[in-house]
Amino acid sequence: MHFAKLRLNGFKSFVDPTELVIEAGVTGIVGPNGCGKSNLVEALRWVMGETSAKRLRGGEMDDVIFAGTTTRPARNIAEVMLQLDNAAHDAPQPYDALNMIEIGRRIERGVGSDYRINDREVRARDVQLLFADAATGAHSSAMISQGRIGAIITAKPVDRRGLLEEAAGISGLHSRRHETELRLKAAETNLSRLDDVLRTLEAQLEGLKKQARQAQRYRRLSDWIRRAEGMVLHLKYQAASVELAAAEERLRAAERIVADAPPPPPPLGASARPSRHSCRHCAMPRRWPPPNCSALPWRARRSRTRSAASPRRVTRPRRGSSNSPPT
Ligand code: ATP
Repeated sequence: MHFAKLRLNGFKSFVDPTELVIEAGVTGIVGPNGCGKSNLVEALRWVMGETSAKRLRGGEMDDVIFAGTTTRPARNIAEVMLQLDNAAHDAPQPYDALNMIEIGRRIERGVGSDYRINDREVRARDVQLLFADAATGAHSSAMISQGRIGAIITAKPVDRRGLLEEAAGISGLHSRRHETELRLKAAETNLSRLDDVLRTLEAQLEGLKKQARQAQRYRRLSDWIRRAEGMVLHLKYQAASVELAAAEERLRAAERIVADAPPPPPPLGASARPSRHSCRHCAMPRRWPPPNCSALPWRARRSRTRSAASPRRVTRPRRGSSNSPPT
């Protein structure tokens, strides 16, 4: 796998579409100071996933977009495409089967950049891993820019270790290990957060269980109360029925008594002597001589008894009639 072509459009001083063909062997770029030789190397580094604007000699990433000159307006989009020849199929997986790999990065002012591999949108991480597995990348020591040699000589041991790892071809593994460590850390954070959530849910569950128990008890007690109230009402109804029957019985008896009752006594002051309206034997009103008045002949007594047994058939004896009881 080797670099075949670099295409720039709107990147730094390359405002017009520019193509740099990298042939086998040594390719040299010759030009006066400030013609953009270093910009080409930066374009190469940028398309391989450089994230530091400072390393690209800028303040922010938007500085890689053509900023305009006195004669040309600024651009809003910059694009760099790097073509890799993979005829030997030695590219890392899953790109090893491809003959040609095209990696593109596009940046829009104020929006950010996105990456593409063979016209398919990918993450920056995928592009960085592809080059790391191929023992190269934006920070590869194979790319020696201005002042780089001095930086390598004065580098800290950790940075020198990176240099050795890259030479040994294991920088991809280290990059993956770093990514895995980050994922593990994120998973641990998620786990501890889950623990917190679980604890909160357990507390809520306890509260809900208590409420459920109270609700069940309430329903059971309500059921009992409803049944007890039903029984009380039923007992009251039975007692009222018995009372009603007794009252009806008393009413009937009272009606019978009323039917059998003598007329009211004469008003006070009236003669106590038996009047012509009274029975002279028992001083009862003549209209209703008691049936058991011993003074009555037995025939009359029997008829009075019959009349008393059936009050409806009792007729008021007419005064002076032959049926009127003897007085
Ligand atoms: P030297 O040989 O002196 O290092 P060089 O050939 O490497 O020079 P570069 O440093 O690559 O040249 O290019 C610098 C030129 O790029 C400057 O003229 C600068 O104006 C131009 N330049 C850098 N960034 C931008 C930008 N964002 N927009 C327009 N022009 C830019």
